[in-house]
Amino acid sequence: MIADTQELNIVRIGSYITHSSLKEIGNRILDSLRGIIQEYKVFHCDYLMLNKIDAELITMILAEKYTGHVLGITDADLITDDEFYSIFGGKNTNNDVAVVSTNKLGPERITSDEEYEVFISRTLKVSLHEIGHNLGLIDHASYKKARDGMLCLMSRGEFNKFGFRGYVKVVIDGRGFCFCNECVRFLKLVY
Ligand SMILES: [Zn+2]
Ligand SMILES: [Zn+2]
Repeated sequence: MIADTQELNIVRIGSYITHSSLKEIGNRILDSLRGIIQEYKVFHCDYLMLNKIDAELITMILAEKYTGHVLGITDADLITDDEFYSIFGGKNTNNDVAVVSTNKLGPERITSDEEYEVFISRTLKVSLHEIGHNLGLIDHASYKKARDGMLCLMSRGEFNKFGFRGYVKVVIDGRGFCFCNECVRFLKLVY
């Protein structure tokens, strides 16, 4: 489903990630989706402090509370009923809500600027991938490069082949902050 609103509501679920980190992610989302997403708002939904959360259920809860494009960010594990692994991010095809779990994206502890940047950039890349789905983009089976020479934000690999640690290193760290020409063409056509 494609919403025509150009506003993104970023909702923190649980309280691990800081407000300033959310704002940094929001600002960098605007950079990568310039002209498509024009503003964002940050909300906190901290009564949902859970270790594990059903990905589909949380998108339904957020869809009832917020309008337009919604990005939920949680440090809880995101689980689904048909996959063995928990997921980094997902989106409900019936609404415009995407969710991202930071649980397996960061270094265990963040003690340096470099580790903080790793955490923010991974969360940002998974967020942009899921927002890309919200905007109608589809996963790339192949490893398409974007103009920055890095993988397109919509690239994905065989999860089972990599395992989650390998997936983070190869696919998520391999992505840059740009969409490939084909994705950009689609976005220009639609928005
Ligand atoms: Zn995807
Ligand atoms: Zn692409």
